[in-house]
Amino acid sequence: MHEYSTTLAIVEKVIDEAHKRNAKRVICVELKIGKLTLLSVEQVKFCFEAISKGTMLEGCELVIEQTPPVFKCQSCGRIENSINIDTLLYDHTAPSIPSFVCPACGNRLEIVGGKECIIKGMRIVV
Ligand SMILES: [Zn+2]
Repeated sequence: MHEYSTTLAIVEKVIDEAHKRNAKRVICVELKIGKLTLLSVEQVKFCFEAISKGTMLEGCELVIEQTPPVFKCQSCGRIENSINIDTLLYDHTAPSIPSFVCPACGNRLEIVGGKECIIKGMRIVV
């Protein structure tokens, strides 16, 4: 399960950082998850709760900000961030992420944002 392994890595990273700061507990974790990661926020929250049980993260608040995809045209440099990909992403009959073309010049768009999965911040008790 994609969400489980990703969330496990996040929890391990948070615990690691918390130890470095001599924390007793972690009370809030903020994540930034790009929509192109195809991670389900609900699944991540579910896994987070399960994995953090019995650790210093137990009962921790999880705040997830979903970031939209950002594309850049390789030929004219146009930045496109208004493409609504929700229907494509959640249509599970679609084989994979389709490639998009630039509305200005018709060339291929490169993904420059929306694939990130980062820990934006955390609040600890020392
Ligand atoms: Zn273009």
